[in-house]
Amino acid sequence: MYDLSDPRYARQLTLRGFGPAAQDKLATGRVLIVGAGGLGSPAASYLAAAGVGTISLVDTDVVDVTNLHRQLLYTTPDVGRAKLDVARERLYAINPQVVVHTHDTRLTAQNAAALVAGHDVVIDATDNFPARYAINDACLAHGVPFVYGSVARFDGQVSVFAAPGGPCYRCLFPEMPAPGTVPTCAEEGVLGVVPGVIGLHQATEAIKLLVGIGTPLVGQLLLVDLLAQDTQRIAVARRPDCPACSDVRTPSLPSMSIQHLDPTHVAALLASDDAPIIIDVREPWEYDLVHLPVSTLIPLSTLSARANELDPTRSYALLCHHGMRSEMAANWLLQHGFTRLINIDGGIDAWSMDVDQSLPRY
Ligand SMILES: [Zn+2]
Repeated sequence: MYDLSDPRYARQLTLRGFGPAAQDKLATGRVLIVGAGGLGSPAASYLAAAGVGTISLVDTDVVDVTNLHRQLLYTTPDVGRAKLDVARERLYAINPQVVVHTHDTRLTAQNAAALVAGHDVVIDATDNFPARYAINDACLAHGVPFVYGSVARFDGQVSVFAAPGGPCYRCLFPEMPAPGTVPTCAEEGVLGVVPGVIGLHQATEAIKLLVGIGTPLVGQLLLVDLLAQDTQRIAVARRPDCPACSDVRTPSLPSMSIQHLDPTHVAALLASDDAPIIIDVREPWEYDLVHLPVSTLIPLSTLSARANELDPTRSYALLCHHGMRSEMAANWLLQHGFTRLINIDGGIDAWSMDVDQSLPRY
């Protein structure tokens, strides 16, 4: 039974700008967390502790020993058990006043709408693109904002999509990357604390949305580089031609779109008469480690300020480490009048494997 006067909430009840009215909103709040892994563990733990009244978890995995360095809902004796079973026990142990629902299924385009329905906020704690796009579309359909988070290596990203007036995930990434073009945590590793930090950013955004305090990351993409302890916020605008959320929805993508090419194709283009100009949007320290001799360095964070150095009539191929930041850059340029854009899928890492093996990888 939810007890608003429970001393467990004392530090929130006395918090100026929060207090009993906010706690009451948490008590009636319903959050769907898709994925009970690296992001879902901290998000679910802290939302339960904060007193979010209903928490729904979606997952199908069992606890694996390789999860334990970052998924702190689970401990060594839990290896081999269903994550949902362990998570339910732990969340009730953290706070028996909240209600935990579990859904032993994978979120897909077919079941996403049914899972999202009845929730106030969705936390995207998935590790795959089909689920993320399905969450986006279902949240748009139900008018439910979702808190996006992703991690890789030492870096993470957070944003709030599908909030009223704000952009959706497809405004940022209209097209799903081809399978295998974006490495997973299993392939490239992740420092255990990184999903902890990002998952707590997501929990924070969920609380802000439920209670209506602060400024949620609507139209803002937070980029967190934990090695440098550097954070950047990039503005994400609604695309007037977004295939999912614009008023002029089209079943197919607009004719002006970004070409996705792998390094081998781009290398072939460079030798042709119609060679694109390669813009490397990584950070200077990465560029110093390895770069293509023909490339121009314009770090992503400086792109909006330096776009006037570029000619919208020319063809540009955007490059980064693995193809994510370059796609953001390409999308930004697309929204600002550039029409001949190529994303180099797989980034310089794929280039060093497939085109020029003398380039060091990092
Ligand atoms: Zn959109």
